[in-house]
Amino acid sequence: MQRTWVEIDLSRIAANYHALAAVVGPDVTLAAVVKADAYGHGAIPVARRLAAEGAARFAVSCAAEGVQLREAGFTHPILVMGGFASFEMDALADYHLTPVVHSLATLHHFNAFARNRSTTLPYHLKIDTGMGRLGTRAAVDEIIAAIGDASSLQLAGLMSHLASATDFTTPQTADQISTFDSTRLALRNAGIQPPLFHLSSSAPIVFGMKPVFGNMVRPGLALYGYVSPAIGDAPPAAAQVFPALTWKARILEIKEVGVGSPVGYSARWRAQRISRIAVIATGYADGLPHTASNKGHVIAAGRIVPITGAVSMDLTSIDITDCPSLQPGDAVTLIGSEGEATYSAEDLAREAGIISYAVLCGIGNRVARVYRD
Ligand SMILES: *Cc1c(COP(=O)(O)O)cnc(C)c1O
Repeated sequence: MQRTWVEIDLSRIAANYHALAAVVGPDVTLAAVVKADAYGHGAIPVARRLAAEGAARFAVSCAAEGVQLREAGFTHPILVMGGFASFEMDALADYHLTPVVHSLATLHHFNAFARNRSTTLPYHLKIDTGMGRLGTRAAVDEIIAAIGDASSLQLAGLMSHLASATDFTTPQTADQISTFDSTRLALRNAGIQPPLFHLSSSAPIVFGMKPVFGNMVRPGLALYGYVSPAIGDAPPAAAQVFPALTWKARILEIKEVGVGSPVGYSARWRAQRISRIAVIATGYADGLPHTASNKGHVIAAGRIVPITGAVSMDLTSIDITDCPSLQPGDAVTLIGSEGEATYSAEDLAREAGIISYAVLCGIGNRVARVYRD
């Protein structure tokens, strides 16, 4: 028995993986993004299932996440996308992780590291095509010279990242693609042809935007069954994906409160009627966003009911006046479905004023993970 737990349906993740692979087709390799503990779903069990489904490669954020996969026995190529500091270079080399290099200064530094180890190390180079975060903005002739100088490194991929992939009202995506394509062309003209080139996270795959695929894609969120809401006129979905995670918590106590009675820190909620309030065993320390206070909902006895008052660290109160059958020890659903009622990580995110990624990644260590095949 658990106080608060998530159930992860690995067959859903497998089905989502196949749906995405079908969109991109056999000529495009898919790097399954399992960073941030597979968006809260558990990197090792998720990667194990995806490997069994045929996933050829994985992508993570940092060297430590790659080391975790290697220590669990994965021998696949692993791309470390989130940059690295000097102290992480030994782990990259020791564990055969392929880093993304984000500036020409880092390229120089990493090359010196490889030369000192008398080895040749692979890397992908990221171009900042407009995201304005990681990635080099150097002029293309400087990039070409730096790649040539890095003789102890091997350029295995050229990549970029889209800033507004779900926004169909802005030219930013088209601008980024064209900057990327012209950089790739200039490198090719200089005789530099990295085997992989890629810019796509989940959204372009789900929306079937073939010009974005390159020959590798990097889906994360869609593997877990979510798609960020589109802005403007999105193309029809090319893939259907379904959430894999259900979050449950038990009712610890139930009390009846009179009209006007306050509930929780700062008395942010007061009963408008005689109410049955259930205290559930999940709080913001478990990842239920504090901004869901008085705004979010949960499913109790098959009905969507409101969170009453402030989400506290370990506990949250909900209004179960309309669910007379519920008793202490019963479970409610924070994310998932009960019968006809569905409340997703996207619903919680919207009501809490955040994004589904933050809800999923925020599910804390205290929440047990239970896997179903
Ligand atoms: C996290 C990440 C992805 C995956 O993005 P999703 O929107 O979750 O599919 C792809 N590429 C990079 C560089 C990332 O950091």
